Amino acid sequence: MRIVVLAGGIGGARFLRGLKQAVGPGTPEAGSEITVIGNTGDDIHLFGLKVCPDLDTVMYTLGGGIHEEQGWGRADESFSIKAEMKAYGVGPEWFGLGDKDFATHIVRTQMLAAGYPLSAVTEALCARWKPGVRLIPMSDERVETHVLTDVEGERKAVHFQEYWVKHHATVPAHAIIPVGAESAKPAPGVLEAIAEADVVILPPSNPVVSVGTILAVPGIRRAVAQTRAPVIGLSPIIGGAPVRGMADKVLEAVGVETSAAAVAKHYGSELLDGWLLDESDAASVAEVEAAGIPCRSVPLWMTDTDASAAMARAALAFAEAVREA
Ligand code: GDP
Ligand code: CA
Repeated sequence: MRIVVLAGGIGGARFLRGLKQAVGPGTPEAGSEITVIGNTGDDIHLFGLKVCPDLDTVMYTLGGGIHEEQGWGRADESFSIKAEMKAYGVGPEWFGLGDKDFATHIVRTQMLAAGYPLSAVTEALCARWKPGVRLIPMSDERVETHVLTDVEGERKAVHFQEYWVKHHATVPAHAIIPVGAESAKPAPGVLEAIAEADVVILPPSNPVVSVGTILAVPGIRRAVAQTRAPVIGLSPIIGGAPVRGMADKVLEAVGVETSAAAVAKHYGSELLDGWLLDESDAASVAEVEAAGIPCRSVPLWMTDTDASAAMARAALAFAEAVREA
């Protein structure tokens, strides 16, 4: 089977780890190919380096280098470079880059400066990490999510990371703007993977600043809507709240209620062929189906890899049912 997943960082990566187990050796789906289209709207230039937080979270999580509890960055990390930068008075201090992580960004920046596109650079980094999936950035071009907010009484657009990491989404978000998206092209292989997929999965990633940004790259939304493959989404919202993080704040900014049903309707029936929401939200199944989206309730807490694998199996089984119907 050819499986395509549109992924952000932590939620996407943890789901992917389960998906890999669900189609791993000894399973009926063994030999499946997983293509991950990664969000690059969170990318930021820091200290002269190109940092791609979501691509790295997927790469480290699937490659065995992730800081487990934190969910991003490297395990067994040290922070000498950060301390040295601080000693020079060079920030920002609010973005946590460890020494090992720095090496990834140095290699990436060096290769980009030598003229390689981000997709080729990502492939080269993955040659070390062997994530067991084909990881493609949504675009080789620079796309940067900005948030229109009020900082110190002034309305201005700030980089998503400044809003999310520095301000912890506590300042008002009036609009979310994927700067550069409208003129960006999908990276080589993205549209082909979606068109040739047997199933497309929207994992429990942030619907606005992860999956939403990927869909904002011209051509990708249409490819997902038009692919013959069933498109199955899993809710990142359980019981009216994000499982982790501040997705409610960015949903509010785009006028979407923080509920599993509202997120399904935000994606819409042109995109989705099936929506999985948590069993505790089972009462909302009818509301989603009334919007023309087949819906099922299953446990959606990714407490460990087995739980994520069960979610992946539920998504694949749902896709199969949709295909037959
Ligand atoms: P980010 O780029 O690191 O923010 O990661 P993603 O965009 O891939 O995923 C963030 C989303 O994952 C958040 O909106 C969370 O609500 C969701 N999430 C995290 N853990 C879980 C979980 O165990 N179950 C579900 N259903 N969603 C989760
Ligand atoms: Ca992210």
